[in-house]
Formats: sequence, structure tokens, C-alpha cells
Amino acid sequence: MNILIVEDEQHIADGLRFNLEAEGFAVEIASDGRHALDVLLVEKKAFDAIVLDVMLPELSGFTVAKKLREADVFTPILMLTARSRPEDVLLGFEAGTDDYLPKPFELSIFMARLNGLLRRREWLQREKVSEKVASAIDKIYVVGGRTIDFENLELWNGAGEIVKLTLMEVKLLRHLIENAGKAVSRKTILEEVWDLHEDTDTRAIDNFIVRLRKYLEDEPNNPRILLTVRGVGYKFVKD
Ligand code: CA
Repeated sequence: MNILIVEDEQHIADGLRFNLEAEGFAVEIASDGRHALDVLLVEKKAFDAIVLDVMLPELSGFTVAKKLREADVFTPILMLTARSRPEDVLLGFEAGTDDYLPKPFELSIFMARLNGLLRRREWLQREKVSEKVASAIDKIYVVGGRTIDFENLELWNGAGEIVKLTLMEVKLLRHLIENAGKAVSRKTILEEVWDLHEDTDTRAIDNFIVRLRKYLEDEPNNPRILLTVRGVGYKFVKD
């Protein structure tokens, strides 16, 4: 498997390369954001996963992720963030990254996260969903004329188009659907869905909801499926 490491701190990039190669991966390093986009969008090299630092020269990790997703490159992205900046995590999810790891990190945790991304289908299935709920929503869910495919992280929008969802979007959708008819608080979304325990600005979630409404609603500004519950959070309404 091929991994692209986008990291300007050479000792970190070299350390990751050494360990990944020891595990049998092929590794390429890009030392800034522009170099990463050249490799991915100009040379069009394919990778099984991308390890993407946020603080990079030239273009930030956020910009790199956003440009890749805009160019329909959906390679899984593990973002490396600074521990002191939890808001980076939400910005990263907004930009389309799949998972994050705060620096500094233990190598064993890095490997676990990366392998998790590489097996993300299984990873989704292994989540702590009770069997009853899991079988109730199953792998495919139909709502508002759209079909959500949880396993393949896709949504068919009814106009014959397939929208690629990020892992974070799928996790949020699943959580809302599992709790259909109930108000889900923003704090719950941060803690239980995305595993963010820091005191983060919960309004960042609203940007995700705006995006999900574009996928799910006939009139995103007049939602009928993903409702806002004033002072609390959001509620998913079944057909
Ligand atoms: Ca950096």
C-alpha cells in the first residue's frame, strides 16, 4: 500500500517513513502543501491514504484537503493537528479530512489510526452501535428520495448523482438517524460522534448541518428532515 506523508518537519516525516516502510508500506513525502497538490492533482499519483499535517508552508493542510475533495480525490486523510488547537479538528473535518491525531503522538496510536482508515468500511461497522439499532438502520438508508450507503460512504441524491461523504459526515448522519425523532445536542455530537472532549466552539457543527441539508433536503433553507431545535441542537425526522 502507498502512503503520502505531507509534513514539513523533516524528523517527523523521516520517522514515519522509516516505521511505515518497516511495516511494508511504500511511502512518499511532500514537504509543503503545494508539493502535495502537485503530486496528487498534477502528477495524479494514487495513494491508499494521506497523512496530512495542518501547519504547512505554502498551503495549509485544510486547503490541501479542500482542494483534493473539490477535485473528487477521496483518498482517506489522517490529519495531524496541534494538541492545543481543537478548533483545527473541526476545520479539518469541514475541509473533508477523515480522522485526526494530535501531535505529539505515540507511534502505535498513529499506526492504529492509519490502519483504521485503510479499513474504514470495517471500522464503520465496528462502531459501538447496539445490534438492534445497527440492524434497524442497516447499511442502506432511504430518506427524502435519497439513498445513503453507510458502507461505501456514498449518497445517491435522486437526480442520478452520487455524492461522496466523508467519514465524519457519515458518523454524524448515522447518529442523527439512530436518534430519529429526538433532539441531539451539539455537545453530544462533539463528544459521542466525533470523540472531541475539548471545550470547542459548538457552532462549528452548524456548518456540517448546512452541508448535510444540501445533500438531503429539497429546499435546504426550509428543512423538513434535518431540523434545528432551538437552544439544543438538531433533530432528524423520518419520512
Ligand atoms: Ca508543520
